[in-house]
Amino acid sequence: MNKTFYVIFLLVFVACSTVPITGRKQLKLIPNGQLLPMSFEQYTQVLSESKLSTDEEKVAMIKRVGQKIQTAAEDYYKENYLENDLVGYDWEYNLIVSDQVNAWCMPGGKVAFYTGILPICEDETGIAVVMGHEVAHALANHGGERMSQGMITQMGMGTLGAAMGENPTLTKQLLLQSIGMGTQLGVLKFSRSNESEADHIGLILMAKAGYNPEAATSFWERMAALSGGQAPPEFLSTHPASETRVKDLEALMPEALEYYKPENK
Ligand SMILES: [Zn+2]
Repeated sequence: MNKTFYVIFLLVFVACSTVPITGRKQLKLIPNGQLLPMSFEQYTQVLSESKLSTDEEKVAMIKRVGQKIQTAAEDYYKENYLENDLVGYDWEYNLIVSDQVNAWCMPGGKVAFYTGILPICEDETGIAVVMGHEVAHALANHGGERMSQGMITQMGMGTLGAAMGENPTLTKQLLLQSIGMGTQLGVLKFSRSNESEADHIGLILMAKAGYNPEAATSFWERMAALSGGQAPPEFLSTHPASETRVKDLEALMPEALEYYKPENK
């Protein structure tokens, strides 16, 4: 078959996937087998250029929250026969010493927290709010979705054929370009709808992990309080903390609370 037909075939039959929990259909042109190794490589690079925290207590807390959120996600996927979606994941949680108010999770479960966000989290439950939200971006494949959209709008159908595997080096260049990797990685800006979706999924993950989801509204209120400052934190430029956000979270609370079973049963 000719290339255009091949690309259309891929778009129609292969390129759609479903976001767990919200059930939204999304464009997925880059299979995890291609996306995750690149993501892991970038993560290793970021870590090698960063100072990792040696505060054992805080590092342990980040890893503990991460593992609980991971388990909640894995349980949810198992219960919904979606385990295959997690093949290739290689979860990792690190705490970077930096004044930046920031945290992110790269495709495949590679999480970084910056020490600058910890005071706003206040405690372990606050960390779970951020962890749930960031992990949700990865689970919902928002990075890959953004790349897919970028590939279509910037490169057009012809190049897409190349990107689908005929030329691995070119593929990698296109992908790195479309996600702005290497320079902007930790501050990837998602669309508002991706943000709402990550809030929704994150709330359910944290509840399922045994953290009270109601802490999410107060976390975002604390973030909003910072936005009036001279230099709003990095996290706020990618995560606008608005009244709408808090209202939306409140609307999702009854659903999230159904998943919440406090640990000391
Ligand atoms: Zn986000």
